[in-house]
Amino acid sequence: MTHTEGMAGLARLIDQAKRAVVFTGAGISTESGIPDFRSPGGIWTQMAPIYFDDFLASEEARAETWRRRFAMEDIFRAAEPNRGHRAVDALVRRGKVSTVITQNIDGLHQASGIPDKQVIELHGNTMYATCLDCGSRYEIADLRAAFEGEGEQKGVAPVCTRCLGYVKTATVSFGQAMPPVAMRRAELETLAADLCIVLGSSLVVYPAAGFPELAKRNGAALAIVNREPTGLDSMADLVVHESIGDTLGEVVGVN
Ligand code: NAD
Ligand code: ZN
Repeated sequence: MTHTEGMAGLARLIDQAKRAVVFTGAGISTESGIPDFRSPGGIWTQMAPIYFDDFLASEEARAETWRRRFAMEDIFRAAEPNRGHRAVDALVRRGKVSTVITQNIDGLHQASGIPDKQVIELHGNTMYATCLDCGSRYEIADLRAAFEGEGEQKGVAPVCTRCLGYVKTATVSFGQAMPPVAMRRAELETLAADLCIVLGSSLVVYPAAGFPELAKRNGAALAIVNREPTGLDSMADLVVHESIGDTLGEVVGVN
């Protein structure tokens, strides 16, 4: 199938749909300069993940987690929504897409204009941090200034000033429980949809990747736009192995 045929097929599926959900992964944000995990040269080819139990058990693991996070900060801060995010936002505003279910932690769907209540973050958000014990919120810039400064906190993983709990980005680590409310909402939105559009996910991280699978099993159409093959290509009604921005931007008519 050519790119043109793929785009025509996607346009047709969107046209036929009454209520679509969009499911996004790291691939939608690479065009904003944020590397994904599983592309050639992606983050996992360079370093192993730190599991939640290790974060809890070891000061060194916590400090290493924060060193990695601060090393990414300039990229996250500079990132802006790209053509793919804008096309998704347009579909939400047209009432075609009810909700965006995302594995991403970068906040770029919200930055593109989609209301918070229409973005379900399965893996949380890395643009701020919370205390694991009392939930108090902390800003990354403040934590970074302390960690990288010359004071007593230099190189020390932050703890909560209120309760001394460990402070962690508001993300879901490997080995950490999925957020129950987000999971439930994602399930309900998926079951209510007649089309699921997957953008930029290798569809190998479960339970998140279970949603496109659930949509298809429930009778919805499944469309996947991803540069490389995914775990669900064989199940999909349409697979376009091209870049998201150029594909969806063209289909939706957004620059
Ligand atoms: P992934 O890294 O496993 O897969 C990304 C997929 O997107 C790859 O298959 C790649 O071929 C494709 N891709 C990359 N750029 C693309 C583009 N411009 N157009 C089309 N396809 C493109 O990502 P995942 O499935 O989301 O899983 C990784 C996990 O890591 C997620 O759960 C997420 O929480 C986290 N993560 C998030 C971010 C972010 O928030 N931006 C970045 C890295 C990782
Ligand atoms: Zn606390």
